Amino acid sequence: MKVLVINCGSSSLKYQLIDSETGKALVSGLCERIGIDGILNYKPADGEKLVFNDPLPDHKVAVGNVLAALTNPEYGVIKSLDEIGAVGHRVVHGGETFAESVIIDDGVIKAIEDCNDLAPLHNPANLIGIDACRQLMPSTPEVAVFDTAFHQTMPEKAYLYGLPHEYYEKYKVRRYGFHGTSHSYVSKRTIDVAGLDPDDSKVIVCHLGNGASVSAVRNGKSVDTSMGLTPLEGLVMGTRSGDIDPAIVEFIANKENLTLSEMMNVLNKKSGVYGMSGVSSDFRDLDKAAREGNELAQSAVEVFCYRVAKYVGSYAAAMNGVDAIAFTAGVGENDGKVRKMICEHFGYLGISIDSEKNSIRGEEVVISTPDSKVKVLVIPTNEEYAIACETTALVEGK
Ligand code: AMP
Repeated sequence: MKVLVINCGSSSLKYQLIDSETGKALVSGLCERIGIDGILNYKPADGEKLVFNDPLPDHKVAVGNVLAALTNPEYGVIKSLDEIGAVGHRVVHGGETFAESVIIDDGVIKAIEDCNDLAPLHNPANLIGIDACRQLMPSTPEVAVFDTAFHQTMPEKAYLYGLPHEYYEKYKVRRYGFHGTSHSYVSKRTIDVAGLDPDDSKVIVCHLGNGASVSAVRNGKSVDTSMGLTPLEGLVMGTRSGDIDPAIVEFIANKENLTLSEMMNVLNKKSGVYGMSGVSSDFRDLDKAAREGNELAQSAVEVFCYRVAKYVGSYAAAMNGVDAIAFTAGVGENDGKVRKMICEHFGYLGISIDSEKNSIRGEEVVISTPDSKVKVLVIPTNEEYAIACETTALVEGK
């Protein structure tokens, strides 16, 4: 089935048309500056990238222009919209309501709206994308795939915070976790590639991209993860601080005369390896700067790696062992140096890394040596393909 996968932001819309049987992305692209002026990027798998500058006053026009491009006689990849079997939407927050993907109807839309205050920047944008597709393709089934759903299997001891219980009761303040589609896809592939028993397996997934999180997956189910109520908790990320002493918020706000929302902006956008180094959030820039002698860039990478290693250690403890550790996303897939620095902390687990294997890029590979007590793998994530597969399975009733 051909599935249109949509990831809608407040002024952007990422899309891919995926053949869920072959996994091939027939077209991928991005609409930017929606509501401002409008740029539509369109890249067919077998053709040149095209850029259109027609105005995109709202998301409905953006979706309409994407559909027109997909069916264009010259550069389109389908003859008619009937060839699109379903639309799969990435939805950021499903709260406690959604533990799996669902076919969208009016009730689902209402339930997603009810989760809006848990993700006030993202969920309303996701709903706008859903609404635009419903208007333009009313007879095509739509599926919502939630970033939080995979982690709904976490036990209470992993998701409750040390806060007055009334905040959980009144506002559902708890750990939710994110990157669920990636953690689900990568943990499944890890079980396959490492040859583990799906019903008796302990896997730790390190999703290390600009946003970064670690998850503990026991017998295919998430039992803990590093992101929390929001994606700010856990690892040191590209621009997010990850875990800090909560008292720092008030301390710096007082010193710098910042409001709460200005402080949140510092923690989300100006911290992480970017804020620590003053150089960049991109690990390629950090590596270059560190090699040129920039000590802050070097220490930012070391802090990043140390934090990942601490989470892996705590999840090995939480699961009373670990069979396989998988690296994925931009840094996890591409940066052998960072993987090596992280794995240097794992001597106590009996892990040893094959440096030749660790230099392979862009494919699923076991990078640990055959005698390593725990398998370490690189598994490229493919969230769009995972969304297309979930969508197809639901629509075909599998
Ligand atoms: P993601 O959020 O998964 O798209 O990851 C984006 C991040 O991956 C970038 O900000 C870089 O830090 C990192 N990245 C991408 N390519 C490479 C590479 N070749 N080497 C090191 N880091 C990379």
